Amino acid sequence: MLSARLREAGVVGAGGAGFPTWVKAKSQVEFLVVNGAECEPLIHKDAEIMRHFPREILAGAETMRQATGATRTKFGIKTKNHEARGALKAANHSPLVDWVELGDFYPSGDEYELVYTATGRLIPAAGIPLAVGCVVCNVETLYNVAEAEAGRPVTRKFVSIAGAVREPKSFWVPTGVTFRELIELAGGAATPDYAIFVSGLMMGTFCLDPDDVVTKTTAGLILLPSDHYMVGRRTRTQKEMNQIGKSACDQCSYCTEFCPRYLLGYDVQPHKVMRSLGFTASGEAHWNQWADLCCSCGLCTLYACPEDLYPKEACDDGKKYLRLAGIKYEQPRPVKVHPMKEYRRVPSAQLRKRLKVEEYERDTPFQDLDYRPARVRLKMKQHAGKPAAPVVREGDVVRLGQLTGDLPEADLGCPVHASIGGKVTRVTPDFVEITA
Ligand code: SF4
Ligand code: SF4
Repeated sequence: MLSARLREAGVVGAGGAGFPTWVKAKSQVEFLVVNGAECEPLIHKDAEIMRHFPREILAGAETMRQATGATRTKFGIKTKNHEARGALKAANHSPLVDWVELGDFYPSGDEYELVYTATGRLIPAAGIPLAVGCVVCNVETLYNVAEAEAGRPVTRKFVSIAGAVREPKSFWVPTGVTFRELIELAGGAATPDYAIFVSGLMMGTFCLDPDDVVTKTTAGLILLPSDHYMVGRRTRTQKEMNQIGKSACDQCSYCTEFCPRYLLGYDVQPHKVMRSLGFTASGEAHWNQWADLCCSCGLCTLYACPEDLYPKEACDDGKKYLRLAGIKYEQPRPVKVHPMKEYRRVPSAQLRKRLKVEEYERDTPFQDLDYRPARVRLKMKQHAGKPAAPVVREGDVVRLGQLTGDLPEADLGCPVHASIGGKVTRVTPDFVEITA
């Protein structure tokens, strides 16, 4: 059964969330929606993997389509990615694939957005694609499905390194290598002091530690000089963001008017979340139902707000307090697409301009590096759900692909495998270190 093979191979969503793919493979749906939208500014790794590995991606898609009983595969890809589209179409022999051509907007890869574009269906508020007969899989995840079918577990990651590096590029690396190694593989930093954005400027995480490591969900790195506008925006504390928001938000509501979830018809209204900050002493406990359906795309904070405030972070905080208060918001009205939706889409070029990263927009061509690190550190939590627990001990000798972390089958999660052969040199509840 495919689901069991995917679990055994540790396949999780490679697009960012890391949801275990074996769970998706158990569902029965009408459409398999393939996410090749890739909309994070400067990251082009999905375009590269589609261009260079179209057969594997299509084989993985067909395997998932058959397992889920889907009648059609809806393949979402941006029209601007001509070479990737051409490679996929040339490699495709299935009459069951529909090509869904997407404009170059942010965030066209959001599941709610993609399902609507591909099928015309609106996922119920707070629901999942399954509720409208769809399963959504990222292109690299489908590559890993094909690998799992060939008996190979997930031990490497396709990444793109962009921004202030000498040779922006995309390549495979074993999971568990450090960001420092990735930067060296991209020719080194092109600036002495830099900050690292992991997996994207909009939805990724901010990192100042080059010794952090690649997981199954790392899309790549973007380096920016330490004095860049984006670094300044990401280094404020939540308290500072709340205080500035309280005093400076003029309730213009641009954040709501540009919010992609609001425009799709969901009750997300970040300006009301910002307003709620004013009713608290320090931004504490400002739970707010208008935050609950926010997907944290970051557009309100980094594009829409003319005052450079932090509505996305206020929504994240609001969601946290909603959870703590045990409140589950239910949208009282039906989801209905806003009549202005198509006219308020944000072109990627405009977004890059607003983020002040136009000068870093470059191709990240694929290079077959066959990188062999001296050491890897495999995190036990590389996926949504529960972390794995180490199943090896210090001193053990392991081979490439051997199981190093696992969890009970009933739990949501995925096993972790050795990404190089070697000796286990350190084991903690959080990671397993292997030295080649
Ligand atoms: S766009 Fe900015 S200033 Fe306007 S309501 Fe939203 S947070 Fe306030
Ligand atoms: S981050 Fe802002 S723009 Fe994005 S979904 Fe949430 S509220 Fe809307």
